[in-house]
Amino acid sequence: MNYNKNLVIGCGLSGAVIARLLADNGEKVLVIDRKNHIAGNIYDYNNDNGICIHKYGSHIFHTNNEKVWQFLNRFTSFNTYMHRVVALIDGIETTIPFNINALYDVFPHSLAKRLEENLLNNFQYNTKVPILEFQKQDDKDLKFLADYIYEKVFLHYTAKQWGKNPNEIDSSVTARVPVYISKDNRYFQDKYQGIPLNGYTKMVENILNHQNIEIKLNTDFKEFASEDSDLMNEYRIFYTGSIDEFFNYKYGMLPYRSVYFKFETHNTEFYQKNSVVNYPCNYDFTRIHEYKYYLNDKSEKTVIAKEYSQYFENGKNERYYPICNDENIKLYEKYLKERPQNVYFLGRLGDYRYYDMDKAAERAMNLFKEINNG
Ligand code: UDP
Repeated sequence: MNYNKNLVIGCGLSGAVIARLLADNGEKVLVIDRKNHIAGNIYDYNNDNGICIHKYGSHIFHTNNEKVWQFLNRFTSFNTYMHRVVALIDGIETTIPFNINALYDVFPHSLAKRLEENLLNNFQYNTKVPILEFQKQDDKDLKFLADYIYEKVFLHYTAKQWGKNPNEIDSSVTARVPVYISKDNRYFQDKYQGIPLNGYTKMVENILNHQNIEIKLNTDFKEFASEDSDLMNEYRIFYTGSIDEFFNYKYGMLPYRSVYFKFETHNTEFYQKNSVVNYPCNYDFTRIHEYKYYLNDKSEKTVIAKEYSQYFENGKNERYYPICNDENIKLYEKYLKERPQNVYFLGRLGDYRYYDMDKAAERAMNLFKEINNG
């Protein structure tokens, strides 16, 4: 069948990228989103004090993918922000990922030195070791260190974030934050990193700004579809919502973790010394974000958000994190098997994958290539 119209459902990053690629290719695209704003969960806005707030939590762009970087740079410039995460462990400030510098923050100097030498005798400098691998040590000192990091960095944070122990969730999740045999205090080591100079919303607005693209907000796919009974025959559909919802949850719901942000404005220039401070051992929140750091916003006030993790409940909160275990992936695959020929799923929710922003853009770019070159 020859579908002469394209419908993109969801105008987060994945939806915007695929829409733009189609539009640049001379095709007409209608983009709908049930939210009242574009940009999905990377949406940001300037508050009354001129501070750019990431409504759905801190987003730091980072990539090694030249094509993704070049593509996004058509629509925004990025600053040279390199993300660091401070953690408070037993009240001591240190660095996440836990690295050689962190040894000297949390241990007496002589012990830290011994552990550093031991690490360098056993691992190549600059290697990243997932905590669940790092625990497989015979050496007494390194075993002690592994137990310390597991308990102080991962155990309680992961319980707060996922409601489970680190060894009960997919190993790729904790591997995102390895033990880093290095003195590099950055959270990411990618070649390109930064925050869009005019914000993510503006970047997405620029991506969608094309004569072939029409946008309809406050528009739910199911309602839209019910008004146009021929929709499935007319359109090629790019669906970035959750795949189970597309199929009316007929095999059951795919679980997600959601997040609740408690926003606070403080009458002080800075609340904390870093954009993100993790609390792996204390309190019910996982971390505190302070937004003015990202674009160096000048204000006598500051806005912070305390981040609490919770289960996703349909209609009550938003989907943030797919819970990628065997059972859930099987359920996702069961849905995917029923993909109609004219429907493509993409994005964190459509693919049920824990994508970073660059991976979401890359996936949209690859999909576009796939459908055009076979
Ligand atoms: N994590 C942890 N302690 C930390 C930071 C991360 O245990 O201080 C674990 C936790 O399980 C988390 C995962 O590593 O869900 C991935 O963290 P990341 O910062 O990549 O999560 P995101 O920024 O995507 O929410």
